[in-house]
Amino acid sequence: RAKELDRNNFQFYSSDLNVRVMERMILESALRRALERQEFKLYYQPQVDVLSRSIVGFEALLRWYHPDLGLISPDKFVPLAEESGLIIAIGEWVLQTACRQTKAWHDAGLPPVRMAVNLSTRQFRPNLDQSIAAILLETGLEPCFLELEMTESILMRNVSENMALLRALTDMGCHLAIDDFGTGYSSLAYLKNFPLGRLKIDRSFVRDITSNPDDLAIAKIIIDMARTLRMQVTAEGVEAYEQLELLAGHGCAEMQGFLFSRPLPADKAQQLLRNGLTF
Ligand code: C2E
Ligand code: MG
Ligand code: MG
Ligand code: MG
Repeated sequence: RAKELDRNNFQFYSSDLNVRVMERMILESALRRALERQEFKLYYQPQVDVLSRSIVGFEALLRWYHPDLGLISPDKFVPLAEESGLIIAIGEWVLQTACRQTKAWHDAGLPPVRMAVNLSTRQFRPNLDQSIAAILLETGLEPCFLELEMTESILMRNVSENMALLRALTDMGCHLAIDDFGTGYSSLAYLKNFPLGRLKIDRSFVRDITSNPDDLAIAKIIIDMARTLRMQVTAEGVEAYEQLELLAGHGCAEMQGFLFSRPLPADKAQQLLRNGLTF
C-alpha cells in the first residue's frame, strides 16, 4: 500500500478512506515509539466512599502526550494499541507505574488506598498472572491493594482460560471489577461463576438518572444484584449531587465522577489524598 501512495499522491489524498488509513499508520508508528520516548502519563481519579466522604481508591487512567499532536485520549489510541498488540507492553507500563505510585503513597503514610487498573481483553494471555505477580513483587505493593478492571467480554470469550487466570489473580490477593457494567453481553450465570468483587455501573446509566426512570431502574437492579451476589458496587460518572443522593439512597456506597474530582496527575492526586475531599 505504501508503494501505491508514493506513485500517486493525489489519488491517495483524494480518498477519505486512504486518509484515514494514513492517519492510522502515522498514529500507530508514533504509538510504537511512545513508550521509549516516555510520552505516556497516568492520571488518577479518586473512588469515593460517600458515607465517610473519604477516598478509598484511585483509578489509573492513561494519557498520551504526543509532542506534535498534543493530548490524545485513550478512547482514540487504546483501540489502536489493542489491534497492534502494543497494549501488552503499554499495559505492563501502566501496571508498573500505578503499583509503584500506590506503594509510594502508602510509604509516605497517606491513607492506604487501593489502585484500580484497566485491563484490555488483549492482555488476557496465559502469563498475565505471572507478569502481575512480578510487578507486585518488584514494586512491593501488597496484592490486596490492586484492583483489576475488565469489561464483560472477559466473561464470555475463552471462558475456561480466563476463569483460570482470574482465579490465579484472586488467589494471589488481587481484586477484580467489571467495568462499564450493563453495556456488554455477559450472562448472569457467568457473573456468578467468576470470582468478581465489584460491578461498576456504567456512566451511561448515571447521566440521566434523575430524569429517566428507566436508567434509575437499571441502576437499582445492578445495585440490588451486586448486594445479592455479595459484590461491591461503584457508580461511574457521578457529576451532580442529585445523582449521588439517588444512588446512595438505593444503597450504592462507592462512586467516582467529576462531582468529586476529575482524573489528576500524581502530585495533585496526592494532595487530594492528604487534604481530603470537599463535596
Ligand atoms: P473507563 O475505565 O470506564 O474510565 C472512566 C472514564 O470516564 C475515564 O475516561 C474518565 O476520565 C471518565 N470519567 C470519570 N468521571 C466522569 C464524569 O463524571 N463524567 C464524564 N463525562 N466522564 C467521566 P478516560 O480517562 O478518557 O478513559 C476512557 C477509557 O479508556 C476508560 O474507560 C478505559 O476503558 C480506557 N483506558 C484508560 N486508561 C486505560 C489503561 O491504562 N489501559 C486500558 N486498557 N484502557 C484504559
Ligand atoms: Mg475503568
Ligand atoms: Mg467505565
Ligand atoms: Mg471502559
